[in-house]
Amino acid sequence: MSRSKTSIALIVVFVGIKLGYTAYRNHSATTTIATTSSLPALTTTTDVVTTTQPSISTTSTPMSRTMATPETLTPTGDGALTGRIIAIDPGHNGNNWSVPSVISQLVPDGRGEKACDTTGTSTNDGYPEASFSYAVAMRLSTLLRAAGATVVLTRSNNASVGPCVNRRAEIGNEAHADVALSIHGDGAPASGRGFTVLVPVRSSVNGAIVTPSSVLARDVVTAFQSAMPISNYLGSNGVAPRSDLAGLNLTTVPKVLIECGNMRNSTDAALMKSATWQDRAAQALANALTTYLGGNS
Ligand SMILES: [Zn+2]
Repeated sequence: MSRSKTSIALIVVFVGIKLGYTAYRNHSATTTIATTSSLPALTTTTDVVTTTQPSISTTSTPMSRTMATPETLTPTGDGALTGRIIAIDPGHNGNNWSVPSVISQLVPDGRGEKACDTTGTSTNDGYPEASFSYAVAMRLSTLLRAAGATVVLTRSNNASVGPCVNRRAEIGNEAHADVALSIHGDGAPASGRGFTVLVPVRSSVNGAIVTPSSVLARDVVTAFQSAMPISNYLGSNGVAPRSDLAGLNLTTVPKVLIECGNMRNSTDAALMKSATWQDRAAQALANALTTYLGGNS
């Protein structure tokens, strides 16, 4: 969340609803609509996030309001992933915050409708989740391509908007990806630490990939412990089934979403802001995907 009025709204949510709701909120249509649409104007932005995001005066440039487009990156090497197609979805986007009316528009989520996208969370000192997810995705893409994979990104930069959550699934489907991974950071109460892998629950679309996605989740949990401890507040043994996420409801290829850590926890946040740690996280994810696809990582 990025603005004072949003923060006030969130406090109300926290008071009224158990703390565990936080993780749900980050990907929740209903709450996102309520909070983002309550913003009277972006010029009210006052908190620390503005230190790492462009000021409102720059958002009139066409680029900042451009909807993201997918990008296909060809292999740069030959190895365990040769011939594989891997869809990587960096959560949110760097300019989602600038167009609440766009990202709050309802899209199909596989069970009903939810908001096109959300702003995502940030560390307490303003490092946005969108920047984090994109940084890890770039590092991961480099590793996968070097091992022979074709990488399909759901967004090609961190300076645009979206894509909407339904498209994030469809892009992987249309690419006939062998596997897909969404990269996020959580915004939970500060006491919570660690990573969680969110897995699909059977919908009218994803039935064929629920079981293989659980296998993928196991591989991610095994590998990612080299970078971050398993969550002490969310899921069970690092895995949490989620029926409310369009990206998991609408996928027809094996897919999980990883909350790489809690950006509101000071220990996790310090790691997640570190380029060295981002390299380690990307390597862990590359190892997991390689294991899942049958190669040696
Ligand atoms: Zn997120």
